[in-house]
Formats: sequence, structure tokens, C-alpha cells
Amino acid sequence: MNIHEYQGKEILRKYGVSVPNGKVAFTVDEAVEAAKELGTDVTVVKAQIHAGGRGKAGGVKVAKNLDEVRTYAEEILGKTLVTHQTGPEGKEVKRLLIEEGCDIKKEYYVGLVVDRGTDRVVLMASEEGGTEIEEVAEKTPEKIFKEVVDPLVGLTGFQARRIAFNINIPKELVGKAAKFMISLYNAFVDNDSSIAEINPLVVTGDGNVLALDAKLNFDDNALFKHKDILEYRDLDEEDPKEIEASKYDLSYIALDGNIGCMVNGAGLAMSTMDIIKYYGGEPANFLDVGGGATAEKVTEAFKIILSDEAVKGIFVNIFGGIMKCDVIAAGVVEAVKQVGLEVPLVVRLEGTNVDKGKEILNESGLNITAADSMADGAQKIVELVK
Ligand code: ADP
Ligand code: MG
Repeated sequence: MNIHEYQGKEILRKYGVSVPNGKVAFTVDEAVEAAKELGTDVTVVKAQIHAGGRGKAGGVKVAKNLDEVRTYAEEILGKTLVTHQTGPEGKEVKRLLIEEGCDIKKEYYVGLVVDRGTDRVVLMASEEGGTEIEEVAEKTPEKIFKEVVDPLVGLTGFQARRIAFNINIPKELVGKAAKFMISLYNAFVDNDSSIAEINPLVVTGDGNVLALDAKLNFDDNALFKHKDILEYRDLDEEDPKEIEASKYDLSYIALDGNIGCMVNGAGLAMSTMDIIKYYGGEPANFLDVGGGATAEKVTEAFKIILSDEAVKGIFVNIFGGIMKCDVIAAGVVEAVKQVGLEVPLVVRLEGTNVDKGKEILNESGLNITAADSMADGAQKIVELVK
């Protein structure tokens, strides 16, 4: 799960990570009021969306007085920001962070990720802050330093200081920077984060080390332990189809193609997507209805697929192990009864109660193309969608 910058900073503040003072605003008046309360000479008006690259897209503006705060808030609120992370459709700004302006001396990059290669949390840092880290990694990889953290010991002072030295934090501020990184690590581990990216971390004119930006991601599977973080969820930032799917505990991810897939089991779902691509098609989604899905769950899953206007055909590929083929068939028929079916449907069923499942589909009067195998089904749906 993703959260907004201002929420990330709220969490970090609790762990003693220094961040600038700031307040969230949902309207222009609230923005001006927040700036008044901050009372700083310079205020920064920042668009809050779940994507980076806001600065370059005009979503971060420095205001020198309250009139400017009003002007920028009017300009940014309601605007659709297109950044390199939003996709071409962009994201509408519905919240602003009104933040104290900082006297930036230099910008750095600091990030924590879970590294699959080492099975450890890795602290990464660079003196090339403010720019995209992917670009630094490509052009000047020698400017990125890493520390692998031992989970039993945690991030040590020694490691934090070494990385601060490596990225050329001014000597007199190395202690502050090291404390910053250790507090960031504690916030990361305590909350089951999967990414904590501070870009930029800044050194200020008055000798402070601050997080000017904060991007925190959390492991969805650990959120049951963190009700406070779940409260930060902003449904406006999520795909409505994915929200609907999460209500029914379905693993659904929207993709760009036009062939809707309904599959059970993550492995089968992935290979179904692969085989569709192999035959020249493009999957519209990843969908795993799970092992023991009920007819109701299958109905909802099918409705979600049908609600995607890009879907021009559907491929149901089920191996009935724990899942029974007749349950899937009943769910498909029920969903079609409720919302109709205007696109071709190819079904491949195999396993438990397969005969009963096929019988339900045959007797439903639906226009279904039966497939004998995965490959056969993929070829058929790709052909039908053309
Ligand atoms: P994004 O990464 O989405 O572009 P950032 O929060 O990193 O957004 O802001 C972009 C740039 O704006 C920063 O690199 C920094 O130079 C400037 N900036 C952001 N917040 C402040 C602030 N409070 N004071 C001064 N400058 C800021
Ligand atoms: Mg940033």
C-alpha cells in the first residue's frame, strides 16, 4: 500500500526523523490558513498524489507570501498532474501539503528497500539527490552506496556513518545524518515497509539534516498488524476495480491489454498471461480467484473483469483442485445473468467436478467457446478478440 508524502512525514516524525513543519489542506482556504499558522517567510505548496516527479510537472511551488500561496493552491488543486510515474492519463490533485520552505544547501538521496538478492533490508544513498535514482544507477552507478542490514542487529551506527561519509555529508553533520538514517530504519522495520525513499534528503543552511520528500510503501500482507497505517489508505488513488477486488479478497491487478483473465492460483494466472502473449494477445488483468473461492466470489470477479471497458474477450482458465469446476461455472453464469455478456468467452476447465461444470455452462444458453487445453484456449481467445 502506498501513502501520501504528508502521511509518510507524520510517521517519520514519530520516529524522530527530522522533517519540515507542514499541514495538509483540502481546499484553497485551508491552504492559506495552514500557511498563516506555519508563519514562515517562505512556504512550499506541494501536490499530494501517489506518484513522484511532481516538481518537474509543476506540482511543487515555492510561495513568498500568502497571496502566492493562494495563487499556487488555486492552480494546483484540481489539476491533473502528469509525471513520469502517473502514466499519460495523469492524476488529479485533491490534497496539498503546505510546508515550511527550507534553505537547501545540498540534496542527497537515501532509500531503504527489501533486497531479494541478499534477503536483507538494504540502505542505499547517493550525493546525487533530487534527480531520479534510476538515472543515477544507469549513468553513474559508482555514486550509489549500499549497506546491507543484518536483521538481528539492525542498522548500526557504524554503517550509517560510513554511508554518510561516502555520500559526502559535511563532516560536522555526519552524526545527525547517521541518527536520521537509524530512525528511518526503525520506522521502516516497525511498520513493515517495503520501500522508504527520501529524495531529497537535504542539508540546510542552518546545519540541519531533513527529509524534504518521503515515499513510503507498506507490505499489504502485514497491514492487519498496522490499523493506524491502514487509516492512511486513500481510495481516490487506487484503481476502482482493484478496490472492489480487495473487498472480496481477490488478487486482481489491472493491466493494459484487452483479454480479461479469470484463473485460480497465482502460478496458473501468470502462465495464462504468458501464453496469451505468446499467441499475440495482451492480458487485461491478472486475477487469481484463489483456492477455495465461493460462487459469490467468482461472480464478483467476473463482474470486475466485465466492468473494464478495455476488455474485448474473456478467457477462463481453471484447474479444479481444491476449487471445484462447477462452482466456477455457477459463478460465471450468475455474473452474466446480472450484468450481461457482450464479448466472446473462452472457457477451459479441468479437474474436480469438471463434467458438472461443463454441464452448467452448456445448459446456461451462453455463447461459450470450449477449449481443450490452455494453449488451445489462448489461441481461441486471441483469434476471437482480433
Ligand atoms: P517530487 O519528488 O515529486 O518532485 P519533492 O518533494 O522531491 O517532489 O520536491 C521536488 C523539489 O522541490 C525538491 O527536490 C526540492 O528541491 C523542492 N522542495 C520540496 N519541498 C521543499 C521545501 N519544503 N522547501 C524547499 N524546497 C522544497
Ligand atoms: Mg522527490
